[in-house]
Amino acid sequence: MSNNFILMTPGPVKVSDRVLNELSLPVIHHRTDLFKKIFTEVSQKLKKVFMTSQPVLLHHSTGSGAMESSVVNCLSPDDKVLVINGGKFGERWIKICKAYSLEVYSIDLEWGKAFNVKNLSDFLENNTDIKAVFCQACETSTGVLFPIKEMGKIIKKLKNTIFIVDAITAVGAIPLKMDKWGIDVMIGGSQKAFMLPAGISLIALSEKSWSFTKESKIPKFYFNLHNELKAYNEKQTFFSASASLIRSLNVSLDIILENGVEKYWEKIINRANFLRNAFRSLGLELFPEVSCSSLSVIKVPSHLDGQKIRQRLEEFEKIIIMGGQDKLKGKILRIGHMGDISKSDMVKVIISLAKVIRFFDNNFIDENNFNKIINDLS
Ligand SMILES: *Cc1c(COP(=O)(O)O)cnc(C)c1O
Repeated sequence: MSNNFILMTPGPVKVSDRVLNELSLPVIHHRTDLFKKIFTEVSQKLKKVFMTSQPVLLHHSTGSGAMESSVVNCLSPDDKVLVINGGKFGERWIKICKAYSLEVYSIDLEWGKAFNVKNLSDFLENNTDIKAVFCQACETSTGVLFPIKEMGKIIKKLKNTIFIVDAITAVGAIPLKMDKWGIDVMIGGSQKAFMLPAGISLIALSEKSWSFTKESKIPKFYFNLHNELKAYNEKQTFFSASASLIRSLNVSLDIILENGVEKYWEKIINRANFLRNAFRSLGLELFPEVSCSSLSVIKVPSHLDGQKIRQRLEEFEKIIIMGGQDKLKGKILRIGHMGDISKSDMVKVIISLAKVIRFFDNNFIDENNFNKIINDLS
């Protein structure tokens, strides 16, 4: 089956030819010197992207597996924890914590609204027995960026509290400095910022978090990070490794680190700026109060149906973007900026989106404006 779609979702993302070539190489065994060599390279590069001196461990799961791993390794039943809940993925933290009988408190934000760190410091002043604070760096369901650096400053001062950050659409794509910012657990996922197919999740723990793991009383088997750390020290994974995915990760890390990770963050910011300027010129507004550069979330004009726009883009323009979930269904469109996206992909998305909106309402973008936009882009 040929695939001529442009994939511009906030995960999975378009995988580059360099990575696809690597994935097509013959399978190698994961207990060989060749694998150990690749694993060593990957480990060194991951530290640079996470900006940590700690080992970055991996599980063969989607990102949610590493989220679960952080809970089962660092905490115990009845521990009091706080979730900053700003959307679908904030809700996922609550569900995972409840599944393991933690006592869960949450600060629930209106979807799309920015988080004010004062709410965190106030909460922690009044609740001194919180063991962990959970958050997203980028809440992919709304496009909101969270003030991780400022939150880290507050939590760093507390001896008995760790800061657990789901950075699945953030680490590798936007500024995030694990050690410097006081992040105690940082989590990444392969099909988002790391530009691979789904199947690997990444997790790094600060020294403070490693000391928490010694107290943890939640039963665990597959997600036991002590086993994983032992294997890591022998340049392996504890269970079988998908050597193919790991060697392709080695290549996408080269792409991210080519001119230093900071340059890569800039590249994604430039994509976000380019697309957002174009969306504004079409008369569209951004949904989040503070936007993360990994994706743009735009409001669908209230008289139009985002589901139908998304569907028509897929069927007639061969472009895949995402709509909203739950209460945002039909009301927003989400366009990813991670992955192997070219300028011409972005131009195609802008023109196609304008065409599809005009199909449903040709007054929203009149002909003169439409022609001007196409001229400006070419
Ligand atoms: C994609 C994503 C996840 C994990 O989803 P999986 O389907 O398990 O990979 C978690 N958090 C955020 C913010 C995400 O964008």
